[in-house]
Amino acid sequence: MITLDVNDTLVIREVFGPTVQGEGPSTGRRCSFIRLGGCNLTCQWCDTPETWDASRFDLRQTLTRRTVADIMDRAMQGDPDMVVITGGEPLLHQRTDGWRSLLWVLVCAGMEIEVETNGTQEPEEHTARWVTRFNVSPKLAHAGDPADKRIRPGALYALLETRKAVFKFVVRGLDDVREVQAFTAAHGIPPRLVWVMPEGIDTATLSARLGELADPAIAAGFNLSHRLHVAIWGDEKGR
Ligand code: SF4
Repeated sequence: MITLDVNDTLVIREVFGPTVQGEGPSTGRRCSFIRLGGCNLTCQWCDTPETWDASRFDLRQTLTRRTVADIMDRAMQGDPDMVVITGGEPLLHQRTDGWRSLLWVLVCAGMEIEVETNGTQEPEEHTARWVTRFNVSPKLAHAGDPADKRIRPGALYALLETRKAVFKFVVRGLDDVREVQAFTAAHGIPPRLVWVMPEGIDTATLSARLGELADPAIAAGFNLSHRLHVAIWGDEKGR
């Protein structure tokens, strides 16, 4: 039997908002973000290494254990109707009491819940039931980890089976679009569930790459997404 308690805890990096979802099908949607600590991958261009990289950060300083009640207090500021749980890799927490209690309290508060995941973790039954959408971002070769670490077919299929998953890929150019085509075809991911978006940390780079990507992405049957938060706030943290 699952017990739920707002005094349960989770290890988190930050809670911030209200802001907007910057990527994918909910782009522009007003929301709060809850960023959890820890990741099982080591992407060389990771923009949140402070959530996992103990070789560069003192994780005792960058991460804190907070109660679900405390996390909710902050996440509900500004009265959003959607919360994005991100990381790190948030599904690493899904067997904890804190995770179950957080999801349940969010559901009871009427929140839609998006989870950002790297696609290597199978969702547990309670996670699949309570999450509104999984934004799955499998990592391509340029992330640096070996393929058998960053690509877990069983987890991808389990996420597809929830019928709540979309797949987001940050791409640098046409070679990456071709890699996304090969990847999605190999794993039975329908192109209509795929959003491709440009890599970059400034508006000029994003706009230039978006222009290059648009026609090939559309021709491949993919959706196209800007990265709104980067266009507005660059690489500023907590926005
Ligand atoms: Fe960073 Fe995400 Fe890669 Fe983890 S999966 S290392 S959080 S980019």
